[in-house]
Amino acid sequence: MERSSDDMKEKFLLVEENYKAIEESISKAALESGRGREDITFLAATKTVEPAVINHAISLGLRFIGENRVQELLSKYESYDLDRADLQFIGHLQTNKVKQIIDKVSLIQSVDSERLALEVARQAKLRGKTMDILVEVNIGREENKSGVMPEGLDELLGRIGEIDGIFVRGLMAIPPICEKKSEIFKYFENMHKLFIDISGKKSDNVSMDILSMGMSDDYCEAILCGANMVRIGSGLFGKRSYT
Ligand SMILES: *Cc1c(COP(=O)(O)O)cnc(C)c1O
Repeated sequence: MERSSDDMKEKFLLVEENYKAIEESISKAALESGRGREDITFLAATKTVEPAVINHAISLGLRFIGENRVQELLSKYESYDLDRADLQFIGHLQTNKVKQIIDKVSLIQSVDSERLALEVARQAKLRGKTMDILVEVNIGREENKSGVMPEGLDELLGRIGEIDGIFVRGLMAIPPICEKKSEIFKYFENMHKLFIDISGKKSDNVSMDILSMGMSDDYCEAILCGANMVRIGSGLFGKRSYT
């Protein structure tokens, strides 16, 4: 669907306002958690957002974008301004689609099984590279949700930490939707505890650099609990329309 240029101007203005406000909130939360703005990575979740709008955010200073569907990533790939921004994969990934994105993204945030890790490693090695990944944790232990259960994390890391072709950079989580802020703090704190516990254990292909958690409604809480990467979609681009 073609947008009128007035529509586009309005959209750009909204993104500008949101971008500024988010930057301020991130800085404030970083400071409150004893860190600085430079310690937090702001990744924009760009699903359903048209490349012109994404690129406008990049022109404002955004440096990290993440897609969560392979098909959508491929259809937008040629349009992203990737000279200035880094593209990551943040959604559920099917094993048979790894080969379609392996040479297009810098980080796959959503590895949650040995089978997927092995395929990522295999495809990376075919191209002579090592792929950075995060392990997704189902911190709310929700049925029908991606991510390894918290109690299975150690074992999974033990098995995939030895695989050539991947490097585990940290953890990612999408906690359950919570009515109360106190509930969301509990999930974020549990994630941070896992992150710290694993950091204490030495492993060849594992280093806990990135703790990716917090979305539009709760990224400040996540930062206060130790997140160093937040993934923000609707808070930057406005409400998603799936038409
Ligand atoms: C869509 C999405 C986000 C951002 O969600 P918002 O609530 O729009 O900020 C973050 N992480 C993942 C994996 C997503 O798919």
